[in-house]
Amino acid sequence: MLKGIKSLLIGLLTVGKHLFKRPVTLEYPEKRPEVPENYRGKIVVDGCIKCMNCTKVCPSGAIKIEDNNFTIDLEKCIFCGNCTYYCPVKAIKCTNDFELATPDKSDLKLTYDIGGGKDERID
Ligand code: SF4
Ligand code: SF4
Repeated sequence: MLKGIKSLLIGLLTVGKHLFKRPVTLEYPEKRPEVPENYRGKIVVDGCIKCMNCTKVCPSGAIKIEDNNFTIDLEKCIFCGNCTYYCPVKAIKCTNDFELATPDKSDLKLTYDIGGGKDERID
């Protein structure tokens, strides 16, 4: 009985302590979080010189370069940032876009045309 009362008091004390604190969760998607500048979200490519460094340092084999097609498979990507770190011309970058959930896995395969000029996403 005493044990029960003690646990109840501890529980009430814990609730009381958090009653006037600001919530740590957000009502997403109505309220959106501000992500840090160095957040590693969706990866984009522009200005690639086809040196192939990123394909060699990617631990999950998420990057394929064939002819002028540069494909990043975000389903395989573990967002380690190696590709961005080792790109000599900073052509591959992580953005702060974290909203990558999709019911269609093919949406996670991003293909860019790196054939010259601005690298455009084609698929
Ligand atoms: S962030 Fe890491 S896993 Fe993702 S493509 Fe770059 S090197 Fe590969
Ligand atoms: S994105 Fe950068 S590292 Fe990858 S092939 Fe292009 S230039 Fe090389």
